[in-house]
Amino acid sequence: MKEQLIFDLSRSGRKGYCLSPLDIPERPAEELVPSQFLRKAPAELPEMPESEVVRHFVRLSNLNYHVDKNMYPLGSCTMKYNPKINDYTCDLPGFASMHPLQPESTSQGALQLMHELAEMLKEIAGMAAVTLQPAAGAHGELTGILLIKKYHEKLGNSRHKLLVVDSAHGTNPASAALGGYECVSVKCDESGCTDMADLRSKLDGEVAALMLTNPNTVGIFEKQMPEIEKLVHGNGSLLYMDGANMNALLGITRPGDMGFDVMHYNLHKTFSAPHGGGGPGSGPVGVSERLAEFLPVPVVEKYEEAGETRYRLNSGKPDTIGRMMNFYGNFSVLVRAYTYIRMLGAEGLRRVSENAIINANYLLQRLVGHYALPYPRPVMHEFCLSGDRQKKEHGVRTLDIAKRLLDYGYHAPTVYFPLIVSEALMIEPTETEAKETLDAFADAMISIAEEAANTPELILSAPQTTPVKRLDEAQASRQLNICCPL
Ligand SMILES: *Cc1c(COP(=O)(O)O)cnc(C)c1O
Repeated sequence: MKEQLIFDLSRSGRKGYCLSPLDIPERPAEELVPSQFLRKAPAELPEMPESEVVRHFVRLSNLNYHVDKNMYPLGSCTMKYNPKINDYTCDLPGFASMHPLQPESTSQGALQLMHELAEMLKEIAGMAAVTLQPAAGAHGELTGILLIKKYHEKLGNSRHKLLVVDSAHGTNPASAALGGYECVSVKCDESGCTDMADLRSKLDGEVAALMLTNPNTVGIFEKQMPEIEKLVHGNGSLLYMDGANMNALLGITRPGDMGFDVMHYNLHKTFSAPHGGGGPGSGPVGVSERLAEFLPVPVVEKYEEAGETRYRLNSGKPDTIGRMMNFYGNFSVLVRAYTYIRMLGAEGLRRVSENAIINANYLLQRLVGHYALPYPRPVMHEFCLSGDRQKKEHGVRTLDIAKRLLDYGYHAPTVYFPLIVSEALMIEPTETEAKETLDAFADAMISIAEEAANTPELILSAPQTTPVKRLDEAQASRQLNICCPL
């Protein structure tokens, strides 16, 4: 990697600004700021002209892979292209220079946007009420689980188990544990859907809720929802939907209509905010009528005053679970999601999901002869292949295939998730890719399958063309040390 640190590029005395001479008498710093708050020595900041700062960061951005560069087939993450108009509205001075402690009287526009976004999300998913507070999907899960807990507490139930289907995202069992529940895993059957016999056998009087992802993480729609709904509600338990896969459902069907009591949305996935690398995200939670009173505060409310529509924050909800976040959530992501929904409208949103489904099925059909397909059924917006064949026959693992894709100029798909598929390669093309892009990606995947048979050493030594070569995937998370030695 050639780019030097910005500190190494620094040259004493260079600067990127030029201030006009003071037109008031100069006074020593000690007269203006109490001396204990003054630095003893100047901060060691890099000294560079603006042009070099800009070039440094543009060069760094070129070392990176991003959705503005090429397709990003990371399954479950919905890495769609993010329309630039979302950033435009987000940068409008009225939004960008707001302070979260501004009074309601000067924040009416922001409050209106939040209120309307919650209304639209309610309509999209068929839920009775929505909170915009949680900062990500996993945070939404925890919020939903705390709502479930409060609901049972209020009824005097002491249920202590959450059922989670074994194809679920790892955040589901983690959130269940954080919420103080014992997590019980429910199996998938050979079609990739919830195993009904296993569900029946685990649904007892201790079960607070079932957590389910629909379409599930192998991209298959759970058609048994009416039966699951009857069973779970008949048991006095609630139904949680992990809504990370809403990109397959927009305008087609709604979790509320399937009988879910609580769900989270991933605004950064479905509703198009740039994400990855840990944020920023937004994981609103939608609930049915019977959970609405427990939602986090403050709640944005609309009211009429002297013939005018106004908005206010209400924290006076006696049964609330409390706050889940400082201030009101990740506001900039809310502005982007609002813009995205308003730009597309109801028809446009439906086309998003239809095209996401068509793209996934098209890509799957191109790849199906070349990689094993554990659940051979039509899929929704994503699908899961297995690298088993390449591993058994040629000693090339899914990890190696993922590395080789980088040489072909693509981000790798999600690998080794879900855990129920061995050597999993989970691919989500999203609706924003053109047929030519899908074909080029399919060609790369097919070439790699051929290389596995003929020149496996090419794959085993990949990547060769990236700024850094084979990295130890685990070290960065096990020994988190991002300091640069001086
Ligand atoms: C992304 C995802 C989550 C977690 O959402 P974050 O916003 O990353 O916290 C949960 N479940 C599924 C199925 C997901 O794809």
